Amino acid sequence: MKPNGTSLNTRSNGHHPTYNMLDELTVDEIGDEHVGSSIDTPLRADAFDISDDTKIELIEDHFREILNILGLDLTDDSLKGTPRRVAKMYVKEIFSGLNPANKPKAALFENKYQYNEMLVEKGITVHSHCEHHLVPIIGRAHVAYISSGKVIGLSKLNRIVQYYAKRPQVQERLTEQIAHELKEVLQTEDVAVIIDARHLCVSMRGVQDVNSSTVTAHYGGKFKDDATRQEFLRHVSEPTAAL
Ligand SMILES: [Zn+2]
Repeated sequence: MKPNGTSLNTRSNGHHPTYNMLDELTVDEIGDEHVGSSIDTPLRADAFDISDDTKIELIEDHFREILNILGLDLTDDSLKGTPRRVAKMYVKEIFSGLNPANKPKAALFENKYQYNEMLVEKGITVHSHCEHHLVPIIGRAHVAYISSGKVIGLSKLNRIVQYYAKRPQVQERLTEQIAHELKEVLQTEDVAVIIDARHLCVSMRGVQDVNSSTVTAHYGGKFKDDATRQEFLRHVSEPTAAL
């Protein structure tokens, strides 16, 4: 832990500050190239040793400091509650999917209808945040599975997507985490996930491209077969039923 916010780390020879221009570029490049490290969200072992309430208090203090450093007057009526609001939003809402305690419990049912075709849940709203800039990723997920004899409630598919979305994410990892969870819950490899999303860190900063979106996919088991995959893609591309 650094003694204060202004100190620089030094390399072992003590002469060159590590936080030089080159390192800063590298940090930016890692973000812009969206380099992810593993399928598991990199969490510390002690991530949940402190309570949500304590986290909110600590984040509130730190966020107040960030806004102070930016030069904002936190005695202003509109701003004074912002550090608290952001802290609560981080812990209880947009990053609540970090905590395994918030993982949706998916009750399994017997496949009584003997429905053995693929089930596709498409157009699931994805609201996540890129872990490199902590700005929104907004898009849609389409998930499918072929029952191995067990089924889950439809809304559970949405909840699983939302749970993993409520973390600092890279889209590739989000896709893999959803697929992995569906396989585990449904006890089958026959699972497919597509995510089509816009990254605000691409549109509002960096290259500032407002039109591009990113598509990621995972095809497991039978979805590796071309015909099954094509059927899934056909369902996804068909217009959504009107209400
Ligand atoms: Zn980003």
